[in-house]
Amino acid sequence: SSFAALGVCAVLCDACRLLNYREPTPIQREAIPAALAGKDIVGLAQTGSGKTAAFAIPILQFLLEDPRPYFALVLSPTRELAFQISEQFLALGSEIGVRVATLVGGMDMVGQAVTLAKRPHVVVGTPGRVVDHLTATKGFTLKHVRILVLDEADRLLNMDFEEELDQILAAVPRSDADPSKGETFARKTYLFSATMTSQVAKLQRASLRSKETVRI
Ligand code: AMP
Repeated sequence: SSFAALGVCAVLCDACRLLNYREPTPIQREAIPAALAGKDIVGLAQTGSGKTAAFAIPILQFLLEDPRPYFALVLSPTRELAFQISEQFLALGSEIGVRVATLVGGMDMVGQAVTLAKRPHVVVGTPGRVVDHLTATKGFTLKHVRILVLDEADRLLNMDFEEELDQILAAVPRSDADPSKGETFARKTYLFSATMTSQVAKLQRASLRSKETVRI
């Protein structure tokens, strides 16, 4: 398939075929090779563009090579979107055995803490609830996160999650690793937004490695 031409591995090409993704969407065509090359990404993309798979496919491919718990943290502005993102990770990653925890408000903290204790590879959540777990759930840490996804960044900011985003950015590894401090990897960031506002640009400056960023 043409997913293979983007560098997507056979297992994930098969998963795309099973989901009837016949060919990559434009955003996938640009984001997937850049992400697989280790770049940060800023993507202007609407819902329906295939942006979820554009970040889920590279994350799953990295996981296949190095299946670490808490590898990726995906922040979503709403519960509904968080569940949709988790479902896509599970659908694309079923052969890989990916474990996903979904942390959203209005639902039982204890049940979510149980899924966190199972060492998920991917944590998807709304910022408020992710911060709640950082405070309340023993053993939950973001210090192993290799990839941070800010999905629908403009809505994350419109919904007044700025304070929570600051807390989360302070809790994930730095985007510019300092080997002299024993930091062995730089966290990557994929930011998707339907619109580019000055607030989104500010979040972008706070979270992305400027020299390593591909804009699409
Ligand atoms: P999204 O923009 O991520 O919300 O995706 C919108 C819908 O398109 C979802 O239902 C995806 O499963 C589907 N989708 C994603 N990538 C493709 C593709 N390459 N071909 C067909 N459908 C896709």
